[in-house]
Amino acid sequence: MITTTNPATGETIATYETLDDNGIDAKLETATRAYGEWRGTSLDARTTVLSALGDLYEANKEELARLAVTEMGKPITQARSEIAKCASLLHYYAEHGPPMLDSKFWDLSDGGRAEGRWLPQGPVLAVMPWNFPYWQVIRFLAPTILAGNVGVLKHASIVQGVAQRMEELVMEAGGPEGLFQNLCVSSDPIGDIIADTRIVAATLTGSEGAGSAVAQQAGKHLKKVVLELGGSDPFIVMPSADLDQAVKDAVTARIQNNGQSCICGKRTIVHAEIYDDFSDRFSAVLKDVKLGDPMDDDTGLGPLSSEGQRDTVLKQVAKARKEGCTLLFGGEKIDRPGAWMTAGLLTDVPLASKTGTDEIFGPVGQLYKARDVDEATTIANAIPFGLGSAVWTRDEGEKEHFANAIEAGMTTFNGVNGSRIEAPFGGIKRSGHGRELAEFGLHEFMNLKTLVNP
Ligand code: NDP
Repeated sequence: MITTTNPATGETIATYETLDDNGIDAKLETATRAYGEWRGTSLDARTTVLSALGDLYEANKEELARLAVTEMGKPITQARSEIAKCASLLHYYAEHGPPMLDSKFWDLSDGGRAEGRWLPQGPVLAVMPWNFPYWQVIRFLAPTILAGNVGVLKHASIVQGVAQRMEELVMEAGGPEGLFQNLCVSSDPIGDIIADTRIVAATLTGSEGAGSAVAQQAGKHLKKVVLELGGSDPFIVMPSADLDQAVKDAVTARIQNNGQSCICGKRTIVHAEIYDDFSDRFSAVLKDVKLGDPMDDDTGLGPLSSEGQRDTVLKQVAKARKEGCTLLFGGEKIDRPGAWMTAGLLTDVPLASKTGTDEIFGPVGQLYKARDVDEATTIANAIPFGLGSAVWTRDEGEKEHFANAIEAGMTTFNGVNGSRIEAPFGGIKRSGHGRELAEFGLHEFMNLKTLVNP
């Protein structure tokens, strides 16, 4: 059984019966059958489903947003934005996706011609996390539908209501049975599901541990994986930055989604010239974030996704203090039912410490002082991760330096780093490999078949 809990109150929401081996087998059979038909559909048929699904996300925005808030506690305004982003991506692939599947041609030295044609491959397993419970799945599902593949979802247990609703919506949008199925299972049978010959590939967004488990099993069975794992993104502020906006955005970056985003700026690195001023303002704005009921429109910080997740962050704060970091304020448990804690800020973080190199998945920031561009780069790269990064500067030379020097899959200048529906997204180092979104995400699980016509 899977039980979901409202992290704002600690109350049980619902209980779901997990699938047994027969249930899983039936779902994989359905996926195989659905793929046999879906792969032969026209691009028009696929984009019609994508558009209809996008419309449904728009039409049901409030209901879907409230469901996510109830299950994982993100502020309602951010939940609404997440649904809107899902709708945009679905519409984007419906409108701009088909040309991404155009064949490419090459003239051969023997006078012949070769064509590279994008063909689907089969049912793909998606193992997904709770933090953006719709977006992470839609980022996989939209290209899957367009590619002619089908998807099976193993969603995070704590958002099982969202998972079921997402499956229903695909059917409501006119998707055939089996185009997208939710497997209500714990992570226990995932190894066997990856090994099953009916699954051709797997994608996972989540922790390093889960990513490694899925990648090992996929490797053993020679199946492709895309991994979008954790990050501890740098947010660098140089003297030429618009400081007012940089302070606001640094707080947004750290606090968004109650501090539980893989690509939020978790380590704020500030040039020595502006450090003291920035530190005072950053602390003031962070302390001022309104903590409260995630269903309220003016809440900036709600509970963490679960008491377990909150306790993990509290332990990391305790560990940080043992490692010699200074806790400037906050980072404390709030004594009330649910998964509550205050926002906090750490300084004096030794680069090689656990605190300096681990991901803190909660509302606790880290502030670093850098004497110049080189030291800012060294701090930025002193982590095992390489997902996103943000740099605040108006100096073109500095922009160029950071564009090349930061070890990450993405750098955003003068803004909060985040995935964009039109651009590729993914990481390097221990943040994973492969890309989602744009044509790169669409092609990850397709067969680029070479046809030679002499
Ligand atoms: P997990 O990585 O454990 O969960 C993500 C998904 O993987 C869930 O569906 C989970 O299922 C599944 N899963 C977990 N272990 C395995 C396994 N061995 N084999 C197959 N599937 C597995 O995230 P947590 O919720 O435990 O969060 C822990 C940490 O992960 C966070 O503190 C954060 O650092 C990181 N994280 C990163 C995210 C990101 O966006 N990059 C998102 C979420 C977490 P189930 O829920 O049933 O365990």
